[in-house]
Amino acid sequence: MPSPIAHGLVGLSVHVLASQDRAEIRDPWRIGVTVGAALIPDIDLLFRLVDGVNHHNNETHSFGFALLAAVTAAAAFRLARWKRPLVLGLVVGLAWASHVLLDLLNLDTHPPIGLMALWPFSDGYYKSPVLLFLDIGRTLDWTAVRHNSVSVAWECVILVPALLAAGRYRMRHLGRDVWREGPKASP
Ligand SMILES: [Zn+2]
Repeated sequence: MPSPIAHGLVGLSVHVLASQDRAEIRDPWRIGVTVGAALIPDIDLLFRLVDGVNHHNNETHSFGFALLAAVTAAAAFRLARWKRPLVLGLVVGLAWASHVLLDLLNLDTHPPIGLMALWPFSDGYYKSPVLLFLDIGRTLDWTAVRHNSVSVAWECVILVPALLAAGRYRMRHLGRDVWREGPKASP
């Protein structure tokens, strides 16, 4: 699996691209929801504490679960009267799907190799033939720390420019002062 830093950077990129004005871009709740949706599929690592069985890369790591999260989030935000609940639900789904996509693109060294990406239509484990990211070790020894540092540095080489590109795209569509001054009118 890629590191939480990789998933967080992509979640932040999704948030920036989905924001329609300065107020939304700087809204800590919308940032938290989107970045949280990009991170939360790995909560399945904790399921082992319940029954002692490894559940990692199963249902929560699927595009089907991303769709489920989008629908549930949209309904919840509508009930809570958040601004643009349907869009925010879609953003949650996209951020969740970004986690699945990144995990498909990384080197996997923990069996079963791959993700249950097409659940509920298939229980098979899938992995991209093209791998972009290194794996992250789950031990705390010096070798793992050194390896993880290289993995995270490589993730940043790829994903920080992607975040900057998302910011530039927003600036082009909302005006350069979107980061500094008052809110712009919705497009
Ligand atoms: Zn994951």
